[in-house]
Amino acid sequence: MKGLTKRSDDFAGWYTDVILKAELADYAPTRGCMVIRPYGFGLWENMVVQLDRMIKETGHQNAYFPLLVPESFFQQESEHVEGFSPECAVVTHGGGKKLEENLMVRPTSETVICSMYAKWIQSYRDLPVLINQWANVFRWELRPRLFLRTTEFLWQEGHTAHATEAEAEDETLKMLDVYRVFAEEYMAIPVIPGPKTESEKFPGALRTYTIEGMMGDGKALQMGTSHNLGQNFSKAFNINFQTREGLREFVWQTSWGMSTRTVGAIVLVHGDDKGLVMPPRLAPYQSVIIPIWKDEAERAAVLPCVDQASKSLQGVRCKVDDREQYGLGWKFSEWEVKGVPLRVEIGPKDAASRQAVVVRRDTGAKQAIPLDRLGDEVRTLLGTIQREMFERAAAFREQQTRRVDEYETLKRVAAEEGGFIHAHWCGSAACEATIKEETKNTIRCLPLHRERESGRCVSCGAPSDGRVIFAQAY
Ligand SMILES: [Zn+2]
Repeated sequence: MKGLTKRSDDFAGWYTDVILKAELADYAPTRGCMVIRPYGFGLWENMVVQLDRMIKETGHQNAYFPLLVPESFFQQESEHVEGFSPECAVVTHGGGKKLEENLMVRPTSETVICSMYAKWIQSYRDLPVLINQWANVFRWELRPRLFLRTTEFLWQEGHTAHATEAEAEDETLKMLDVYRVFAEEYMAIPVIPGPKTESEKFPGALRTYTIEGMMGDGKALQMGTSHNLGQNFSKAFNINFQTREGLREFVWQTSWGMSTRTVGAIVLVHGDDKGLVMPPRLAPYQSVIIPIWKDEAERAAVLPCVDQASKSLQGVRCKVDDREQYGLGWKFSEWEVKGVPLRVEIGPKDAASRQAVVVRRDTGAKQAIPLDRLGDEVRTLLGTIQREMFERAAAFREQQTRRVDEYETLKRVAAEEGGFIHAHWCGSAACEATIKEETKNTIRCLPLHRERESGRCVSCGAPSDGRVIFAQAY
């Protein structure tokens, strides 16, 4: 693709080039915002369909709450207001007049949703409340980047209320696992689930769990978070209920979200020097059929085969690119940069032998397939590509993961090699801050299924009972 920066030359420049040239998104005239173009939105819609199904299968319902939140609501939970105030946009005027109370453009919806839960929840019979919202949110970004950090982004946010602490913790972990399955089985990105440290948790949460993926440059991306809010918000918003025994108690809450940021992850993990590589299960087009002819006689021979091929691909998201105003080379590179998993070429020679030439986007492998077997073969190939993309990402992560025991080694690895560093940490915020300051590496999470191993904190030498993951993060 002309004008595409090489991945190895400038990874950040390559990332932006791919998004612009594949027409996933473009810069908006509004500072810090982007326009998601039809191809990018098609990808997002496929993600929404799958994740929405998984959210509903776990018992949740969708609802919608307002974009603007009264400022006073926002101030009710002190950690929450402190955490979000610096990145909030505030509406001060409406209808040409200064408002009596400012309205915050939601950076997240806990406060407005809690105000409604206080009204809706009276008794243990009203619990649990399991609601999800698909929405846009605003967080003022000083250093915006397409998909990864934009002032306005799209996401889903789940908000649940429960009668007991144990039930809320179960819900938090259940949704974390929904995110893990979605990332691994649909996005083809292996992730490490686990709790965040105190300093990295969601403002107002008791505990925050994350799934962390490794991007193509070895850096970490937080791809989804699930928070156990405890009773922090229910106390601030007075969401209480009568228990079975007739006592009044505050509810236990969770919230969890996954955003358009994950579109960036698909680019960062799977893309190559030719552009995007779409995981088949989410690709807007899973295959593109390109008819090849030079004159009317060839066209008459090829077109019936294209029809047959297209019919046999029912159930596969397939596009026939028969535009005559573009040359073959142009079409090939366009679909390559857009990362369509399979290209199906049918020319006069193929028509004569009743076959198509099928080319994989991820490996470049080419094979001739008889037209009467095309549908089955393509469906099988799409499954193979999906699995192998995951396996390649997992192998890359393995190769970029190091176990380190000495601070000097950690500093050197962080500076020279990057990737995930598994090292011991004592649990103190001071050590975490020192390491962050000196190496730009943050603790991504304490892996949920980490092995117990006694060791010494790389920073202070105090005892530790397991390794945590350090990495530079997006
Ligand atoms: Zn320490």
